Amino acid sequence: MKLHLSISRPLDSFLETVFPSQCVGCGGVVDSSSFSSVCEDCSNRFQLIEEPKCLTCGFPFYGEAESRTHCMHCEHLTPEFGQGWSIALFRGPLRELIYALKYKDGFWALRDIRVLAKSATGLEEYIGEASLVPVPLHPRKQRERGYNQSQLLVKELVSLFPRSRQSDLLERSVDTVSQTQFDRKQRIRNLKNAFSLCRNRAIDPAQRYIIVDDVFTTGSTVNACSAVLRRAGARAVDVLTIGHG
Ligand SMILES: [Zn+2]
Ligand SMILES: [Zn+2]
Repeated sequence: MKLHLSISRPLDSFLETVFPSQCVGCGGVVDSSSFSSVCEDCSNRFQLIEEPKCLTCGFPFYGEAESRTHCMHCEHLTPEFGQGWSIALFRGPLRELIYALKYKDGFWALRDIRVLAKSATGLEEYIGEASLVPVPLHPRKQRERGYNQSQLLVKELVSLFPRSRQSDLLERSVDTVSQTQFDRKQRIRNLKNAFSLCRNRAIDPAQRYIIVDDVFTTGSTVNACSAVLRRAGARAVDVLTIGHG
């Protein structure tokens, strides 16, 4: 694999890292693309989500929709949040970028996720002046991984949309075992008490909060986080995920 050093980032030298000049989608060379790690052909496979879409989870409606407030992806969810936004479908190159960021220390992927977020119509207005709250990892998992990808995504969004701010308000107090082997009901039960407000942190009822996570799958994680903020007094809680599963 051909590697070269990225330009140093003024905002966060922690993110200074190497990124591949190979495309994460096809392995080909990346040149004349708006992305650093996705070639021009593969970048056409990003599926940015546009209107009309589900107001709860942000999944696009194809054709006629019975209701704007729910879709097949979130019909079982009793949302504790107002609105949900997803930037793009969790497929193709976005899937590769998020996997790299989450499991392979691929901090270089943030640069391309930023480009994608920048091109999402209406995202800046949606975020506005909100406090962006990353979904926390359990301290054990964060130690193992060395970072929390949702926190890195929030940092990137705040630097892109400086009217917003980062608010690390939540902690994961229960070490839920990896969620993938559970069905929906078990996930919800496991998650219900997994999150809490960090000690010495308070909610400003006048502030709008947005829970930020990498991927919307069943919505149970962002919903559990929203419930904690609501119980602590938050009146406006919305959700933003980069990908929709
Ligand atoms: Zn490619
Ligand atoms: Zn939905």
